[in-house]
Amino acid sequence: MGLTRDFFIYLSENQTLNAAAKKYGLALGANKVVAGVDVPSTIEAIRVLNSKGITATVDNLGEFVFSREEATAAKNAILEMIDALHNAGVKAHMSIKLTQIGLDVDKEFCYDNVKAIVEKAKQADNMHINMDTEDYNHTVQTFEILDQLKAEGYTNVGTVIQAYLFRASDEIEKYKDVRLRLVKGAYKEDASVAYQSKEDIDTNYIKIIEQRLLSAKAMTSIATHDHNIINHVKLFIKKHNLNTDLIEFQMLYGFRSELQEEIAKEGYQFCVYVPYGQDWYGYFMRRLAERPQNLQLVYKSIFTPDVNKKVGIAAGAVAGAVVLGKLFKRK
Ligand SMILES: Cc1cc2nc3c(=O)[nH]c(=O)nc-3n(C[C@H](O)[C@H](O)[C@H](O)COP(=O)(O)OP(=O)(O)OC[C@H]3O[C@@H](n4cnc5c(N)ncnc54)[C@H](O)[C@@H]3O)c2cc1C
Repeated sequence: MGLTRDFFIYLSENQTLNAAAKKYGLALGANKVVAGVDVPSTIEAIRVLNSKGITATVDNLGEFVFSREEATAAKNAILEMIDALHNAGVKAHMSIKLTQIGLDVDKEFCYDNVKAIVEKAKQADNMHINMDTEDYNHTVQTFEILDQLKAEGYTNVGTVIQAYLFRASDEIEKYKDVRLRLVKGAYKEDASVAYQSKEDIDTNYIKIIEQRLLSAKAMTSIATHDHNIINHVKLFIKKHNLNTDLIEFQMLYGFRSELQEEIAKEGYQFCVYVPYGQDWYGYFMRRLAERPQNLQLVYKSIFTPDVNKKVGIAAGAVAGAVVLGKLFKRK
């Protein structure tokens, strides 16, 4: 299997490695792509972004939540961050994952948690809450919950459209007045519901971006590191003389930072996805799955001479990961 997408997705899903990583601070170079383990360090990272004209969408990292206690703790951490962002007066909103606040426990319980978050954000100057989309089954439920929140009158909540899904174009049509983030899609989906090849996904991504930009009545976030797509979007905006007040680009914290700043300096709105928290391991492994070149971050963290005391831990974790990879390959 080697250092392939499937290998890193497997590692990201390994609960033993996740639990081990949680005990330590940001290791393996994760500090380059995770803003901090706590609220103050994350606020500080957002202030730096804001000083460059970049806003933030903040994500409390968390995986494998299957109990009410863990889901409630995650909800409370999100509520705490909403308060902290509001009190600090930084330009930021939040992204949440419904599996972290109980979607796998009970849908109604999860709905109550999302509603508490969206209500709290509404009181914090109508802060926006983005519900990230996950694998297909969870995504379907995320849209159902969005519909329920809309029916209750909430306007400060939106979600993400994954271009690899056949249903993406219908969702663009249905949610014209909802703030949406448009992405290619990060999970491995079945051919019965999703495009499989990079070409097909890229083609559909451009198609839904154009469809959305010509029809939207709410904010659109184009979330990609793909410079070809970004350049295409910029040309499309110019060609159709579109108002950029309702358009922004998004990238992940720590990725292509120079390009992020360049786009912001050109006058486009730019928002960075800022993950924080102790549960950084799964997130970091998925970034490696998307782009094994990101391993550079790991190598740098291990081989930089003045690197912190976590080198031993980092090296051990990589070695463990490789052993696990070999085991996985045998099956
Ligand atoms: C802000 C944000 C939020 C997201 N939210 C979700 C979500 O809720 N649900 C979901 O399923 N997915 C989400 N994703 C992930 C998304 O679906 C893709 O899996 C991910 O962004 C990789 O695709 P890409 O468009 O960035 O470019 P890719 O298709 O990975 O890359 C295209 C090309 O861009 C260039 N490139 C890409 N990355 C780099 C880099 N780091 N350095 C240099 N060149 C690079 C390379 O030339 C590469 O060939 C999110 C992504 C972002 C940025």
